[in-house]
Amino acid sequence: MKFRNTLFFFLILFLIIPSLYSVNIKVRVLSEYKVKSVDVKIASGKYMILCNNVKVFVEDLSPDEALTLTLHNNQIRVEKGIELIGTYNFIEFVGKKYNNIFCLNSSQIDRKRTYEEHLTVVANGNDMVFVNRIDLEKYVAGVVQSEVFGSSEDVEFFKIQATASRTYALANINRHLKEGYNLCDAVHCQAYKGKCTKPDILRGTFESFSDVIVDSSNKLITAAYHSNSGGMTEDAHNIWQAKVPYLRSIIDSFSVGAKNYEWGKNIPKQQWINYFISKYGENYKKPEIQEEIFNFTQNERIAKWVIGEDTIPTKNIREYFSLRSSFFSVELANDTVYLHGKGYGHGVGLSQEGAIQMVKKGYSYIDILQFYYSQTQVVKYTEIIDF
Ligand SMILES: [Zn+2]
Repeated sequence: MKFRNTLFFFLILFLIIPSLYSVNIKVRVLSEYKVKSVDVKIASGKYMILCNNVKVFVEDLSPDEALTLTLHNNQIRVEKGIELIGTYNFIEFVGKKYNNIFCLNSSQIDRKRTYEEHLTVVANGNDMVFVNRIDLEKYVAGVVQSEVFGSSEDVEFFKIQATASRTYALANINRHLKEGYNLCDAVHCQAYKGKCTKPDILRGTFESFSDVIVDSSNKLITAAYHSNSGGMTEDAHNIWQAKVPYLRSIIDSFSVGAKNYEWGKNIPKQQWINYFISKYGENYKKPEIQEEIFNFTQNERIAKWVIGEDTIPTKNIREYFSLRSSFFSVELANDTVYLHGKGYGHGVGLSQEGAIQMVKKGYSYIDILQFYYSQTQVVKYTEIIDF
């Protein structure tokens, strides 16, 4: 009963808040699928249907009513049950109430998706492009559920993720403008698999409503995050060649001992040698040079491993051998190279597992964001952006 009450409370807030202050964004959904036919079913609210800008039904569509859209000769054929409505270039589902929800179902997608607010479907050559126009805060809650759900149950942690995701979304708001929308729903922008259904995530998003992270010049930051830093975060310069004052390497004791703190991998000796020969030359056939590639220790993160004349980025080794991190040490025993690693991910910015530990120790979400993103502030985006 408590769960239902909490859910209801935050759903109500989410219905009221956008009507008081609302920024709508356009997100391309199902961007990773080639959809040839889809059922759009109304789950809640009322929808006005516009086909090539013309209203085609006298009555708005109600819950349980559905339209089938099928790509046909580079246009979209619209059917309601067995009735053919017509063939058009674009279809709009315009939500008319506060609680408008629709579902998309197709044999060409992994599972049914549920979204809030409005939908536009455009025929684009051999594709249908689906764009969900939605309030920014509802989108952020959907992203937090898609990106991190399961790693924590703590509202304070969801406030951190919501603030980071909101900052990322607004910093990249023009990314797909030429294609007619703001963001896509893939990891290229941020994973967004539809409506948020978890009350604690809705609460974390609401409690951090409109919060974003800015640097000392009041610019939205690149809110990079990863799973576990291994006890020390990475400098952005070592990964992306850009010097970013708030993404500097820091000692992070909060990540130590968490689930993804340590890892190990065994690689056959010859495979390890072959990597260095193929990438850095015949020199690595010499036993005295090989000695060096079997002995490497990182107590602190080393971005560039210097062997003779060569400077080898540890991130390249990580990529080639699909390692969890570039923070590893090397040891040889018999014919096997043992890699002992720390952390999971690129290591830049916020460590999710470190942040979860900080929440448990009683730090506030703003303290935690300022720990991982040094010299930054949390402000309301209305203070820095004019919409
Ligand atoms: Zn994108």
